[in-house]
Amino acid sequence: MKGVFNSQYIGSKVGEELSGITLLGCPLDATSSFRGGTRFAPDSIRKASWTLETYSPYLKQDLDDVMFYDAGNLELRQGDLTYSLECIENAATEIAGKGKKILALGGEHLVTYPILKTMKKHFRNIKIVHFDAHCDLRDEYEGQKLSHATVMKRVKELGGSEIFQIGIRSGTRGEFEELFPIDSPTSLVASLSRNTPIYVTFDMDVFDPSLVAGVTTPEPGGLTFKEVMEYFSVLKGMNIVGADIVELAPDYDTTFVSSVSAAKVAREMLMLLHS
Ligand code: MN
Ligand code: MN
Repeated sequence: MKGVFNSQYIGSKVGEELSGITLLGCPLDATSSFRGGTRFAPDSIRKASWTLETYSPYLKQDLDDVMFYDAGNLELRQGDLTYSLECIENAATEIAGKGKKILALGGEHLVTYPILKTMKKHFRNIKIVHFDAHCDLRDEYEGQKLSHATVMKRVKELGGSEIFQIGIRSGTRGEFEELFPIDSPTSLVASLSRNTPIYVTFDMDVFDPSLVAGVTTPEPGGLTFKEVMEYFSVLKGMNIVGADIVELAPDYDTTFVSSVSAAKVAREMLMLLHS
């Protein structure tokens, strides 16, 4: 356990050995095209978590019953992408090696790639549920193969995984042709079977920017919190083996509501990982 009480996510009170889930800050903030600031997200999410109740009326669970451990943040080098991605992959490998599930707090969306590289060694046919405003299926972006805008393309290239995409409303024609869109909780249920290992990657810009302004790439026309919870309620009881929450850039929202929203998504995600 760390010294300062509320520097951790609310409800993190067990040591690593006792936990089944590790919450890990991955403050990668290297390839943002429009504006950065995601490196400040993990700590802002932790701070915002203290405004929440531990009980979720959506999933009817209490965080006090979820054994998770807040492991703090990785020390990345923002100017050294190769090093930072390796660092995230190594940490994910260590967590998976101990038989624990990961909830990663980005950071930009590229953090999903090194985590899934690891996850796919443990769960070859892992299915991916991807909440986002953007397809993230470009082959390269601004000359970079590794970017927040190409992350799901790189994940696809790892092979063997279907990616179900929710909330998508921005991309090139080519990206949309490649998309596997899910437009309702019902169609999500129909696409997943109960025992299949599932990874959930959650880009905060899936929300409408009128609700969550603190993201690097705001895109009008997004989901409400209630709509997201409707998707989460059908994921409950499924075999969720890992998850991330990415692209929060807290400083663009002086009301702090974006951070509270991310913290609330994290609370629900911990419960999905627990069930
Ligand atoms: Mn996005
Ligand atoms: Mn994204």
